[in-house]
Amino acid sequence: MWKTDDKREFDVYDLSRHDGLFMVGDADRDYLVADPKLGFSGEKVTSAKKEWVLAPLSHENACILRRLYPFTAPSRVLERDKTMGVGDRLGIACDGHIRVFKAYPEITPVFAQQSIRELTLTNRTFEDVLDSATFAVFRNDFETGFGADGDHLKTPAEVDYALGCGYTMITLDCSEQIDNTIEALSKADVDRKYVQNKELESIYLNKSFDVGEGISIHFDEDLFRRTVLIYAKAIDHAVSIFNTKLMVKGTQVADFEISIDETMTPTLPAQHFFVANELARRGVHYATIAPRFCGEFQKGIDYIGDLDQFAKEMKVHSEIARRFGYKLSIHSGSDKFSIFPSAGKETRGRFHLKTAGTNWLEAMKLVAMKDPSLYREVHKYALTAFKAATKYYHVTTDLSKIPCIDGLKDEELAGLFKLNDARQLIHITYGLILNEKAPDGSFLFKDRLYRLWRANREQYSDLLFSHIGHHAKAILGK
Ligand SMILES: [Zn+2]
Repeated sequence: MWKTDDKREFDVYDLSRHDGLFMVGDADRDYLVADPKLGFSGEKVTSAKKEWVLAPLSHENACILRRLYPFTAPSRVLERDKTMGVGDRLGIACDGHIRVFKAYPEITPVFAQQSIRELTLTNRTFEDVLDSATFAVFRNDFETGFGADGDHLKTPAEVDYALGCGYTMITLDCSEQIDNTIEALSKADVDRKYVQNKELESIYLNKSFDVGEGISIHFDEDLFRRTVLIYAKAIDHAVSIFNTKLMVKGTQVADFEISIDETMTPTLPAQHFFVANELARRGVHYATIAPRFCGEFQKGIDYIGDLDQFAKEMKVHSEIARRFGYKLSIHSGSDKFSIFPSAGKETRGRFHLKTAGTNWLEAMKLVAMKDPSLYREVHKYALTAFKAATKYYHVTTDLSKIPCIDGLKDEELAGLFKLNDARQLIHITYGLILNEKAPDGSFLFKDRLYRLWRANREQYSDLLFSHIGHHAKAILGK
């Protein structure tokens, strides 16, 4: 307990004690308590007659903290063998995440990881997402490094925004440059559409490439032409972003991930090879590629698809990545427990795994456990909002499979989070739930939810430690 001379009381976070600086919290929020000479801005207070600054967790103070304690600033971590993104949409999950990565130090976390879609749906900024991670890292004295990922960025302006906020990883989403209409075309239509490219033909057409482990990739004319038609613009986009944004005065300023996962059809091995080889040939230094794997990676539930086929394709994708020296990035990794063993094995322990939504689901499970009547309200609202939310996320949810909530006892509510359809109902409606307004203009749920999460933050940390820990353990093959 830390007391000011005017008798205010705060709990002290023991791990945060540093020279003339530590973090405290009361029922509502946390503060830094700083020696005035460190320069934090806040309220001047005295405790046992000594002067301190009671500094709010503001962006300005986060910037000072990152300068004084570089371990609270993100760094480029993708060159480490095992990395895992744990998006924290609410800005409250990092304490639980840190416990996971202290328990599994083989894996380096990317704590700040948010897409523009997620920023919009949660009304947050890149600054705020990174600041939450910085303060949590300080609060828990996590000194082994973490990354910050501007996830699924599409435009030069979005990349500028993330880099300007100090993000150390840019995930470039090339989906708008990938032509999804080619796959279904007949050979004749492909031939009509194809514009001769002698340079690419001399490299790929009717050529075979040995990627190791007896795996060979061959481009016949039809595959070659389709591959060029689907991916050429995406490669141009990645080359341009790399040269104009990632390279500053001859130095690369952030890790670069190429995401080609948000497409209609899985990335064929030959297509993956083509993208990797073209990027390398054109001088792009990238740390990771996210192909679209076979099967379905729906949000917040386990993998849907053929596990043997997945393992076979994972092996080929992994060989391609090894040949070029980058890592595979597995997106929508929340709850994909059935594929983690083969992903860990085939990548030989060099991977990047992204999760995000499952942290929100654990937060809502906590609501079901601690305040059943609030959970019932949110659940009923989510049912009405579901259709609007499918605009943002692809899911195959069957709402009729979710038991009627009025027929469930309070203690049965948390069990809903074992049912895929109920998980997806809550998963994809997060933005609408958080933003819904009451008739008087206040938030219908948001403030009550945050109060509950604040009051029960230890239990939330416990839930995440167990659930995200389960992810880490599975991909490590433990
Ligand atoms: Zn993705």
